[in-house]
Amino acid sequence: MNKPHIAVIGGGCAGLSAAATLVDRGYQVTLFESSAQLGGRARTVPLANNSLMHLLDNGQHILLGAYRETLALLDKIGVDEKQVFLRHPLQIKLQSTSGKTVFSLKSIPCLPAPFDVLMGLLSCKGLSFSERISAIKLMARIRRGKISQDKSLEGFLLEHKQSAKLNQMLWEPLCLAALNTPIAIASTVTFFNVLNDSFSSTRFSQQNKTSDFLLPKLDLSQIIAQPLARYIQSKGGVIKRNRRIRSLVMDGNGFNLETRDGQSFFSHIIIAVAPTNLGQLIDKIPKLNNALLATKSYLYQPIYTIYLQYPAETKMPSAMIGLSDSLGQWLFDRGQLCNQHGLMAVIISAAGRHQLLSHDALALKLTEEIKQAFPDMPKPLWHQVIAEKRATFSCMPNLPRPHNKTLQENLYLAGDYTYADYPATIEGAVRSGIACANLIVGHSD
Ligand SMILES: Cc1cc2nc3c(=O)[nH]c(=O)nc-3n(C[C@H](O)[C@H](O)[C@H](O)COP(=O)(O)OP(=O)(O)OC[C@H]3O[C@@H](n4cnc5c(N)ncnc54)[C@H](O)[C@@H]3O)c2cc1C
Repeated sequence: MNKPHIAVIGGGCAGLSAAATLVDRGYQVTLFESSAQLGGRARTVPLANNSLMHLLDNGQHILLGAYRETLALLDKIGVDEKQVFLRHPLQIKLQSTSGKTVFSLKSIPCLPAPFDVLMGLLSCKGLSFSERISAIKLMARIRRGKISQDKSLEGFLLEHKQSAKLNQMLWEPLCLAALNTPIAIASTVTFFNVLNDSFSSTRFSQQNKTSDFLLPKLDLSQIIAQPLARYIQSKGGVIKRNRRIRSLVMDGNGFNLETRDGQSFFSHIIIAVAPTNLGQLIDKIPKLNNALLATKSYLYQPIYTIYLQYPAETKMPSAMIGLSDSLGQWLFDRGQLCNQHGLMAVIISAAGRHQLLSHDALALKLTEEIKQAFPDMPKPLWHQVIAEKRATFSCMPNLPRPHNKTLQENLYLAGDYTYADYPATIEGAVRSGIACANLIVGHSD
């Protein structure tokens, strides 16, 4: 009865995880989301194309076996992992536009971590023996633990005598996939954190490895946002969509939030918006100046998702293919994953020359490159480019990351940018949301 009434601002992975954790502990929660859909950057959007309405993910997402809090939360709210994800042992296969496989690394599922990946590296294709050995030595270095001073990953790789080819085939694609930041400016410490979590040997299980890729079999909203929203509402939480918080003002022992409906009062607030939207909410709260300054210093990286709809019978050799010497980096066959037959999603992480092209020119260029690599490909029927210009913060060395607990009593910050060990990921967002909820529970229970 006396538990505080908490407002969560933002219905992305962070806000939804915070709200789900709080309602579970019997707290009154109202979540405000400015847009019509929940899920934030990990949402599905209805888009009209070719005079038809299509449900397309805001970007093709991949989860990792290492996303332990996300997977535990989904499990708790009744999402059956097997129904929603295709679990795939780590495999990186790069295909050139000439149709050749130029690099192939497969983990050895029957071995415990990290030997599954180390043995995979030893037998990978596309690198010389000495390159494979130096990659294994570096992997062992990463597993030995933290480095004392953060620096650019490129500088670190140079010091550790990684060849240009190793960087091009292995480290750069891994870094782009994990941090969405080019190796020239990426944080070595954060890269270590993700790799260490992904190659950790917590429990030997042939089925579930931390290095596994989890490829969504449904659209993202059906996997994350919708089940979480149902869970929150089933436990009495209130979700208000299309309700942007216009202002947040301190008022006595709490806060007034203003939406288009007027003002409402809450004793506790979790702000779970992207760092790009933080300023407008906290610029009048002096105790949050440091958080504001930190996020104002951020640079951002884009992620482009180019959907190419081919005739329904079109199928790629596998559900996920790495592209080398192409503008595209990864190609996902959504027919094999989500029954969206003939629909391919090409991903381009981080800034690059693709941004100089118009969306139509980019789709055309990728269509040509895919045709070169896979000569049997027919012409696409339509295309749709989703360009998230500020998809994630640039995960650079020594980036200031605000804490979940702020200097302002009863005001907490959640969001991928607040989970300091990780780059901008679903897992970082989920962990931050749960951490904020636990701080409130710890304080008031
Ligand atoms: C194209 C793309 C591909 C990605 N791929 C991957 C991937 O493969 N794997 C992975 O782990 N991560 C990936 N990410 C990153 C991942 O999506 C994000 O890190 C994560 O979703 C961030 O969640 P969040 O809750 O912190 O923020 P957000 O998702 O940004 O949620 C914030 C929410 O707050 C709302 N909001 C903002 N201002 C207000 C306001 N004033 N009032 C009310 N609501 C407000 C927004 O509408 C939004 O819904 C990708 C991101 C993008 C864009």
